[in-house]
Amino acid sequence: MAFADRALAPVLTTVMYHYVRPVSSSAYPRLKALEMNAFLGQLDHLQAHCRMISPGELAACLEQGIPLPERGCLLTFDDGYADHYRHVFPHLLDRGLSGLFFAPKTSLLDRQLLEVNRIQFVLANHPHPDALADEVDALLAAEGFPDSAARRAVHFAPNRFDSADVAYAKRLLQHVLPADLRAHLTTRLFAQHVSTDEADFADGLYLTLAEAREMQAEGMVFGGHGDRHLWHGLASPSELAAEVAGSVSALGAIGAQVEGGFYCYPFGSQSESVRRAVSAAGFRYGFTVVPQLWSQTDDRLAIARLDTNDLPHRPDATDPWLARSTAATA
Ligand SMILES: [Zn+2]
Repeated sequence: MAFADRALAPVLTTVMYHYVRPVSSSAYPRLKALEMNAFLGQLDHLQAHCRMISPGELAACLEQGIPLPERGCLLTFDDGYADHYRHVFPHLLDRGLSGLFFAPKTSLLDRQLLEVNRIQFVLANHPHPDALADEVDALLAAEGFPDSAARRAVHFAPNRFDSADVAYAKRLLQHVLPADLRAHLTTRLFAQHVSTDEADFADGLYLTLAEAREMQAEGMVFGGHGDRHLWHGLASPSELAAEVAGSVSALGAIGAQVEGGFYCYPFGSQSESVRRAVSAAGFRYGFTVVPQLWSQTDDRLAIARLDTNDLPHRPDATDPWLARSTAATA
């Protein structure tokens, strides 16, 4: 449907979650995770102030050219964690809500630990997370890459979630270094700081296929999230093709829809060629990590999402985003 003016088009609030667990009493209390009371408080808040919409309802509105409901809100859960089966799914069911879940293929089907998760747990278990930047540089020097000054000139800067030291270590280990070096360093750091049994750790961390199927049978929706969870916008053409093909296999194993379905770009990393590849595989909706509301006139392959920490975790709190979503539709 065509809206005469973008300012008058309905807006969608999409909330992005990762770990949701009783984190302070867990084995990794410093993991960047959402506590249960904060999650439930946020659901109370959203249910009080928004019109919760399911992934199916979103797709139906967009396909049929029906305006989205005012203050429409969609819940999304990234990375296919067992947390989502244990600590999210039962509460969504209780409340009659549906969520959109994105599970990469390597973790869901191959039961292998993703590099992104190695890094998160290294940081969670590290006595001084800011020291990881120096550790990475020392490991790189031992591998024959001593020029840390040149690397730091480009990559040493804070982002909206992390200090400069932590952001630097993450950037290097997530996408700056060549793939084989990233794998080598993250495996080594994980063994040193977290566990020497990666396979067992991975099995406990991720949703099983049976759990994913059960969630889907109960009304939850699954979308693509890559194979190895690579930065799609930085991937080579063959890596990108493998990421999209892996997404299709993961959804096939769950029995979830690819054609007309949902995709979430790992790290929000995408580009025109990424959107084209995802669309060519049949996906119709792509989710980013741009922290904004999404207007119904905007690109469906670049749907913005707020992080859970951008929104209140108490039902009675004031919420600047909701004020904007109302103003936009008023
Ligand atoms: Zn992810």
